[in-house]
Amino acid sequence: MKDRPDTPAPIDTVAELLAHALELEHESAARYEQLADSMEVHHNRLTAEQFRHLAALSEEHAAGVGQRAAGITLPSIPPWEYKWNCPGSPESDCLEHEPHYLMTRVEALGLALHNERRAQSFYAQAAADTGNAEVRVLAAEMAAEEADHVAMLEGWLAEADGQPPRQDDPDPPNVAA
Ligand code: ZN
Repeated sequence: MKDRPDTPAPIDTVAELLAHALELEHESAARYEQLADSMEVHHNRLTAEQFRHLAALSEEHAAGVGQRAAGITLPSIPPWEYKWNCPGSPESDCLEHEPHYLMTRVEALGLALHNERRAQSFYAQAAADTGNAEVRVLAAEMAAEEADHVAMLEGWLAEADGQPPRQDDPDPPNVAA
């Protein structure tokens, strides 16, 4: 299973689904905080706030999953499959290093959208593949939640797309701290 990250094995227990969801939501929250920090560096307060909002939604979801998981022993699952990746390069994580310093608002929103779509299809696939009715219902709920995030990001991206890219900023954010 480890060599085939794109075709995960079916999730057949609620515990396994909750373990995946916890990792995925924590990962997303951390990435949104990172993107928000990056947008603040760009003096892009609106986008920073949008990412903080998404981080809060992910944390909220994680907290809900955590409550649901109370008393259940969750399997430990290697975190590689929740790592955010760059559009077009499934193996690399473009937030691992520092390249996002130059990331524009549109790029940042596009990256987030890409990963929300991945999350959505992860849950949708889990719902479709599972042989467990409870997992199916839960995973479908989670997929719907991710679909909301996708729609939100699509809206923000459409708004942001009409605006000039930040790398043309004549006043780059290199002020000494
Ligand atoms: Zn999400």
